[in-house]
Amino acid sequence: MPKLDIIKEIYDTVEKERISKAFFEGANIVLYTTDREYLLNPGEDIKKAVDLLKKRIELRADPAILKSQKNVEESIRKMVPEEAEIRDILFDPARSVVVIEALKPGLVIGKEGSLLRQIKEETLWMPNVRRAPPVKSKIVDDIRKVLFIESEYRRDFLNNVGHRIYDGWTRNKREEWVRMSFLGGARQVGKSCLLLQTPESRVLIDCGVDITDSNNGYPFLDSPDFKINEIDAVIVSHSHLDHVGFVPYLFKFGYRGPVYCTEPTRDVSAMLLIDYIKVMMDKRKDPVFSMDDIKEFIKHTVTLNYEEVSDITPDIRITLYNAGHILGSSMVHLHIGNGLHNILYTGDLKYAKSLLLDQSETRFPRLETLITESTYGGKDNVLMTKKESEDMLVSAVKETLENKGKVLVPVLGSGRAQEVMMLIEKAMREGSLPVHPVYVDGMVWDITAIYSAYPEFFNSHLKKLIFHMDLNPFLSQVFKQVGSAKERQEVIDGEPCIVLATSGMLVGGPSVEYLKNFGDNPRNLLLFVSYQGEGSLGRRIQNGEREIAFASGENRHEVLQLKANVVTVEGLSGHSDRKQLMSFVGALNPKPKKVIILHGEVSRGIDLASSLHKAYRIETVVPRNLDAIRLR
Ligand SMILES: [Zn+2]
Repeated sequence: MPKLDIIKEIYDTVEKERISKAFFEGANIVLYTTDREYLLNPGEDIKKAVDLLKKRIELRADPAILKSQKNVEESIRKMVPEEAEIRDILFDPARSVVVIEALKPGLVIGKEGSLLRQIKEETLWMPNVRRAPPVKSKIVDDIRKVLFIESEYRRDFLNNVGHRIYDGWTRNKREEWVRMSFLGGARQVGKSCLLLQTPESRVLIDCGVDITDSNNGYPFLDSPDFKINEIDAVIVSHSHLDHVGFVPYLFKFGYRGPVYCTEPTRDVSAMLLIDYIKVMMDKRKDPVFSMDDIKEFIKHTVTLNYEEVSDITPDIRITLYNAGHILGSSMVHLHIGNGLHNILYTGDLKYAKSLLLDQSETRFPRLETLITESTYGGKDNVLMTKKESEDMLVSAVKETLENKGKVLVPVLGSGRAQEVMMLIEKAMREGSLPVHPVYVDGMVWDITAIYSAYPEFFNSHLKKLIFHMDLNPFLSQVFKQVGSAKERQEVIDGEPCIVLATSGMLVGGPSVEYLKNFGDNPRNLLLFVSYQGEGSLGRRIQNGEREIAFASGENRHEVLQLKANVVTVEGLSGHSDRKQLMSFVGALNPKPKKVIILHGEVSRGIDLASSLHKAYRIETVVPRNLDAIRLR
């Protein structure tokens, strides 16, 4: 590939004297001008440059001609109708962007963007509208603000990302090849981490932890393949800790490149990582990274929408697709070396519509290698249908509440928690469940706030409820926030209710506190709705363990005789079951030539591999951690 100086090409195409600065913003280009007229009525020259270079080019005001933030805030508040309910106005001064957070973003945009244009004309700032979460959470607001704290740093960082992508090949290129190493998540559920190498690029895909393994819970970053200063980009498929839990550690050790993910993945990840530190501290363990490292991670995210194509290195182009697993979860499509090879990494995948999300995508422009999960890949892992699962959950909860018992649902924080909330809200609204308070503890509440800010990611049915019928189930009165230890005690001492709390596998966090208090009462119900990792307390209880010892201070134990009912409803899982995995691969268009199977207990992975091979005559591989496969 010949070295191409994109910025020079642009200067040669546009009216050079009107441009004061040019910067990359990741794969896009931003031009700044001090010329007000040119800003508001750019000529054909910018369009010509877009056509020529096939890149997104945006024209913004040079910070030198911007009006003061105070004035701009006043005029925006004057121009935008009150019904839009502006929650916040945030300035990104180095990039001349003003972000307006409102409950009704449509009213800030105006008819066909008319109000936005008016704001730009009046203030010269580039207005950007975001939906404010209708469920309030201070921590969500704080996370969203991190991106604006160091405006100049972020401008320069995005500019560097662009230079890395476009400044041509930096490593010696001989023969073309593609190689994938598995640094975690192979033949296991937990610590997912893949390293993609080409002659030009080093890309890390997911970097998670295994919360059920207190000794070896981290990916093999000591593999000779992995050199942190060579990593060009990190991609995060979704916000569960087994996929994102170790990313801040990369920043602790000096990584300062981009992390690609969707917006909800960025927000929910931050929340779960903060919670992870808290849980570690409660267990008196070294959290391995700090809040500052999480902040660095947020500062270096580059968010993408589903199906938005973007270059991430000189020879890799990424597209994220809906994975149907949790809010913002994506399958990662990588187009390598100008058509040399195409990979789809599914991350965690649900090939069925859920209460919140649409089923995963199956159509791609090109596809040679599929890398899929196999959490429920074994022959026997056929889950109940969604309808059967919903009925089972509602009837178990109903019986408990009618018996004056309490229901504890351990949840991962993101995913099943919100699915179960939707299900219970609907059942109470329609009368199939008696109305009782549904307590949403700690992080689950904050994550639900994030969910409420991204209705565009929901399935069409839920979008219709929210946008056309003005019925947002997340805002229902039945949900009550539990924010402190005192409030938690009130729930424990109080009336029959439903409690949703982390962690999902009872490996720490408030769910364990509730278990200690609810567990010895046979009226109560312990309800599992998500995958319980091998070795976790949740799995041990599912396997029949009823005498549970908890550490309480130095060398002391308290023992719980578990008398509460234990019910597992697996059909609500965010993972595809065996049948759905088989149908997903069958439905892929185009058909892959090779399937690599990860993210499943070893017997399940091998079982799925042999069935896929038999059914579709495709080469299948179930690698081990530290294996590497040459894909091309
Ligand atoms: Zn997941």
